[in-house]
Amino acid sequence: MFKGKPKKNNKDASRMKRMRRPGMSRRKVCKFCADYLEIDFKDANLLRNFVSDRGKILAGRITGVCSKHQRVLTSAIKRARMIALLPYLNY
Ligand SMILES: [Zn+2]
Repeated sequence: MFKGKPKKNNKDASRMKRMRRPGMSRRKVCKFCADYLEIDFKDANLLRNFVSDRGKILAGRITGVCSKHQRVLTSAIKRARMIALLPYLNY
């Protein structure tokens, strides 16, 4: 007489498996790997995405850049600083 699913599927129970913490961003993919971008030290607008507002180079675990590209990126940023495309520090 009672048709349908006997188990009551609660929304909360099914969602418990892939619960994300608030404030945590989604899965990060290295921008350079994904888009086959080349890191150019003359491209200051691109490099500016990977330095903080104080001019510090952001860590790869923050920006999502893989270690291979992070290595290239840091040397590109340092090179860009030398030719004054990027600041050494920002106030
Ligand atoms: Zn990469």
